[in-house]
Amino acid sequence: MIERRKTRTVMVGALAIGSPHPVRVQSMTKTDTVDVDATVCQINALEKAGCEIVRVAVRHMEAARAIRKIKAITNIPVVADIHFDSKLAMESLKNGADKIRINPGNMPVEGMREVAKAAAKKKIPVRIGVNSGSLPEDKQCLERESDVMAALALRSMDILREEGLLDIIVSLKASDVRTTVEAYRGIAEKFDCPLHLGVTAAGLPADGIVRSSVGMGSLLLDGIGDTIRVSLTGDPVCEVDTAKRILSSVGLRNFGPEIISCPTCGRCRVDLVTLAGEFEEKLRGNEKLTFPDAGRPLVIALMGCEINGPGEAKNADIGIAFGSGTGAIFENGKILNTVSADNAIDELLRVIEARRSSLW
Ligand code: SF4
Repeated sequence: MIERRKTRTVMVGALAIGSPHPVRVQSMTKTDTVDVDATVCQINALEKAGCEIVRVAVRHMEAARAIRKIKAITNIPVVADIHFDSKLAMESLKNGADKIRINPGNMPVEGMREVAKAAAKKKIPVRIGVNSGSLPEDKQCLERESDVMAALALRSMDILREEGLLDIIVSLKASDVRTTVEAYRGIAEKFDCPLHLGVTAAGLPADGIVRSSVGMGSLLLDGIGDTIRVSLTGDPVCEVDTAKRILSSVGLRNFGPEIISCPTCGRCRVDLVTLAGEFEEKLRGNEKLTFPDAGRPLVIALMGCEINGPGEAKNADIGIAFGSGTGAIFENGKILNTVSADNAIDELLRVIEARRSSLW
């Protein structure tokens, strides 16, 4: 059981953020925010995938004004992503943004004060989004990058608080995993605001998923993090899917059953790769078997041989171990019955459904 770092609760729209609440899944649209139709279409796809908060880029006043139209026809909280110009934040606030993200590395202090004052008045939270790519130049060669990032976040927090804003969320993103982890660890105990986690510019999915999982996974296991965003060069739906898998892997959220399967070896007598793919597809398409209200995900094992399979998967709730033309369905390591390999996947799904109430 992970003990979360204690934080205050910050409301982003109707969504509560902080340690008493689930770690939330966030993403960012990749459309031009002014193109309302395309942006709404992407937000809806992200929400369907499980995204709970979405950020949109606000490059100019027209984009800030588009937030009003976007919010009128979407459901999840919308965050305005602001760089350099505090006036864009002010216009976004006017148009109903649920949260403002500012980058203290490129926004003048007076601008930050102006945003903080207006946000406090409207009871809208601000995220201090420190990014290793935009740190003050005079500091860059003097200290460890993670320390510079942490110091910038702390200074920015003081500025926002001086203007009466307490609903603050902080992020410290670097593209280097170690720097990211050091920065968050260095700052975690210094205040009680929620932390938004991310490894920035993590790369194409193959690298980005690994970097994000290592970085955010380490922090989440330490109890650090209240929202997460996976940054990938690719479809943002993949970001959401990865974020959910990370949270599920560390046991912080239950998004449905987890499938474990063996790597196969010379003992395997079936095409487990194809069977596991078929099972995953059928399971994801079966709403009845997602069990969203269960306290933890159901763990289902698909194993390549009957000799070692049930034992190697003894931590699974239920599973199947294949033999030559057969599949032995087991629960908690004990075999329940043996079926033909041809219809083993459907049989396993039937058994899971039939035994659903007794599986927890
Ligand atoms: S379960 Fe069987 S087939 Fe799979 S890796 Fe273990 S020994 Fe090999």
